[in-house]
Amino acid sequence: MASIFTKIVNGEIPCHKVAEDEHFLAFLDINPLAKGHTLVIPKKEVDYIFDLDDETLSSMTLFAKKVAKAIGKSVKCNRVGIAVIGLEVPHAHIHLVPINGIHDLNFANPKLSFTKDEFMDTAKSIASNL
Ligand code: 5GP
Repeated sequence: MASIFTKIVNGEIPCHKVAEDEHFLAFLDINPLAKGHTLVIPKKEVDYIFDLDDETLSSMTLFAKKVAKAIGKSVKCNRVGIAVIGLEVPHAHIHLVPINGIHDLNFANPKLSFTKDEFMDTAKSIASNL
């Protein structure tokens, strides 16, 4: 069965898209740790990030770098943190999370909720800074 992220890639499930190219997609996490929390995924469905072939993994990192710079311009923060968990969705992804301290990258923290309009504005703002 296709992963939930493949369904997003195929447009079967909506997302707040931030960036896209032929091989990768970046969109806002639906249960964010912070405003601007973004997921970067390969369009090709592979469960474990370290099973990606070398070229895909390195290109995905460079794609994530561009997105992280844009997040940093859109959301006030000290840094954009990067994390890979992958315990919930079996489709490789990188979390990019605006942080001001180490505690902001704790995935046990309560998740924030935003309205559809707020998500849309955040995605648009990040996309405009790419
Ligand atoms: P992980 O697999 O890294 O442990 O967590 C998966 C992440 O994907 C979580 O932060 C979760 O909020 C996010 N997520 C799960 N399903 C969806 C979805 O349908 N849409 C979006 N935008 N994010 C999702």
